[in-house]
Amino acid sequence: MKSSIFNYYEGHPDRSGSVMIYNTLHGSVAVVGRELRDRMYEWTCGDEVRPEEREMADQLCSIGMVVPREADELALYDEQYNAFVSDKSTYDATFILTGACNLACIYCVQEGSDISSHMDEDTCCRAVEWLAKSADEAGSRSLEIIIMGGEALLVPHLLELVLTRLHKETSLRGIAFGATLITNGTLLQREQLEAWRELGLHEVRVTLDGDARCHDEHRPFLDGEGTFETIMSNISAIADLVNLVLTVNLANDNQESVIRLMDRLRVDRLSGKIAQMRFKPILDTIYLRSSRKGSCYGRTCSESKAIEHFPRMHREARKRGINTVVDLAIGPCHALREASVVINADGAMYKCEAFAGRDEFCVGHIQTGFDGRHLEALNVGFFWECRQCNFMPICGGGCRYAAFVKRGDYRGVACEKGFFNKVGREYVKIMALEE
Ligand code: SF4
Ligand code: SF4
Repeated sequence: MKSSIFNYYEGHPDRSGSVMIYNTLHGSVAVVGRELRDRMYEWTCGDEVRPEEREMADQLCSIGMVVPREADELALYDEQYNAFVSDKSTYDATFILTGACNLACIYCVQEGSDISSHMDEDTCCRAVEWLAKSADEAGSRSLEIIIMGGEALLVPHLLELVLTRLHKETSLRGIAFGATLITNGTLLQREQLEAWRELGLHEVRVTLDGDARCHDEHRPFLDGEGTFETIMSNISAIADLVNLVLTVNLANDNQESVIRLMDRLRVDRLSGKIAQMRFKPILDTIYLRSSRKGSCYGRTCSESKAIEHFPRMHREARKRGINTVVDLAIGPCHALREASVVINADGAMYKCEAFAGRDEFCVGHIQTGFDGRHLEALNVGFFWECRQCNFMPICGGGCRYAAFVKRGDYRGVACEKGFFNKVGREYVKIMALEE
């Protein structure tokens, strides 16, 4: 027997003499005494498992924390990773319907409404046709799309066109269809959503940056007016229709304001109706270089100080009956999946929404399909550092866009160890309590 190379160990913050173990390959969590932790080390060094330890060793083996001496865990991980990259059971696509937006967020470089950046109807129809055909040819059993902008609700006719056509095309082919809308929430309308829900829209993601004062400072309308009350009233009206996911942007100085937002959600009787609250750091470097905030939940930035507040935010939300998912896994992301595409308003295709609009990262067009650059983009492989890292299964080598921003090359390493080190101990403690 030997300890898994994918074990992550942390001393238990509240129980001296106990060690928390999180296995990144299997997602299992255990709390063990230091004595057992020491024995695991000795087994790895060649000590035999004693008869009285056998039951415990078998239990640890069943959750992947201890493995047979001859086990090749790197090969096992490679198999899992390759299966993830080539899995076509679900085809996923992101539609960027427009670059236009009705807000002037302080961390966004987009400047207002630009009609010319809308997807035109012909491109919409071709994109739908290409996508339904591609999912069918790939043998996918389901198609999941994300619709975003700019602000996608500025072009509701296009949104409806995509949903109507994809709903029809997928049902003709026997493919399950679901859609998620990412919106700033200012234009949400119950009647529209009722109709779109029948066409497969099952999730709406809205961003809030804190209570009214903080949110309005960060995310005002183009004329400077606050958006908070409009959004609160709109989400109250639709919360029972779809999965409502609230993304909360955390900066260094808005934690108290986020807690006041949680209080407000409770007062408005919304806490129990929110499918999930998610926390994202506001990433100065990345946002300054990207015109798009994207749908990606995985992207993080180890240098962000705001990340340190994540565990507290989870605890505060849960105290108020707001659901959050505590998960250390931040990768590998959809950009590395074969059956995944981002379709920009002009019909050009990319692997990740953060790259959309940059010619050098284009991997095809809906009129001609993927070109050779699609497979090239997938073939990033693992860096030497990552092969030695116990976080590899839940990191996947870091964000490709962050690597591009930091190193000028999407194939470089944008190491996320800082993230794991900052939140790992507290997250594993929460996960251990949930077990
Ligand atoms: S490359 Fe980065 S930004 Fe793009 S989908 Fe992956 S994690 Fe997200
Ligand atoms: S990017 Fe860093 S944290 Fe992620 S797998 Fe590689 S070495 Fe580990």
